[in-house]
Amino acid sequence: MIIVREVAQLRQAIAERRQLGTCGAKEVHGATIQQHTVGFVPTMGYLHEGHASLMQKAREMADTVVLSIFVNPIQFGPNEDLDSYPRDEARDLEVARREGVDIVFLPTVAEMYPQPTRTKIHVSALTERLCGASRPGHFDGVTTVVAKLFNMVNPDLAFFGMKDAQQVAVLQQMVTDLNMNVTIVPCPIVREADGLALSSRNVYLSAEQREQALVLSRSLFKVREVSEDGARNTFTIHQIRQMVESTIASSPLADIDYIEILTFPGLEPLLPEQRLSDVKEDIIVALAVKFGNTRLIDNIRLQKAEVLSHV
Ligand code: AMP
Repeated sequence: MIIVREVAQLRQAIAERRQLGTCGAKEVHGATIQQHTVGFVPTMGYLHEGHASLMQKAREMADTVVLSIFVNPIQFGPNEDLDSYPRDEARDLEVARREGVDIVFLPTVAEMYPQPTRTKIHVSALTERLCGASRPGHFDGVTTVVAKLFNMVNPDLAFFGMKDAQQVAVLQQMVTDLNMNVTIVPCPIVREADGLALSSRNVYLSAEQREQALVLSRSLFKVREVSEDGARNTFTIHQIRQMVESTIASSPLADIDYIEILTFPGLEPLLPEQRLSDVKEDIIVALAVKFGNTRLIDNIRLQKAEVLSHV
């Protein structure tokens, strides 16, 4: 595994890998060509099984797997947890090695932002709700750093977790709008055995908060049950929201930031009186809930076919 900290070294290492052979062949105008594919997994480190699942998917689909670990300051607000964000480089490198990553990119802030940045990428509309509303400027930080990383790595495939469903929608929009030559591969949410979605921020939780944080996944699993139940998928969006809210409110330590039910990936709001079974698109139910100073997010995606299959 090659570990690089500078952009020039990263480009060099990738160029060398691209000259190697390939595990897949491609048909182009009737001819079979060999193409070396690069899969990219951007992270902020403190790696867990959620990150590992992205590396595994990348390992499966690409010839070369590049992992980046960078806690990106420009996506944190002034009162957020940039300074206390958990870090453990040695452990992260072990995880990367175990997952068969080829190249790890570990830049410093100075390497990523050597001069005051005057260019930002802003995706409109999709960034105005959910975490975009609670964390002003957050998504500009995300799209800007991801665009920079894409320009450094030039990946064919880039892997992102549906844990951050809005991020997937925003990045997909950016890639399409700017004709970036990369395919975004969304990967399913990885959870603990008891349902809690894995997150680097879970380490902040006290034992009591950790226990109560289970209301997030529990409330979302109830939505899944309702959507799959022919007798109950006539619930309205309002009723679904109420159900989620009352489940979360059963935890005295939970401080709800938002509960939203939107189309996915368009992130358009649904009418409260609309019945689940009448919605013609995929839906996400997305939550952000604070436990003390720790803000957790989670979501569930209901694919149209799932909701309608029991009608
Ligand atoms: P982060 O290090 O939190 O910025 O996350 C890096 C990538 O890992 C993002 O694409 C996240 O969506 C993804 N990720 C984080 N947690 C999970 C999880 N529990 N399941 C699947 N993907 C995840």
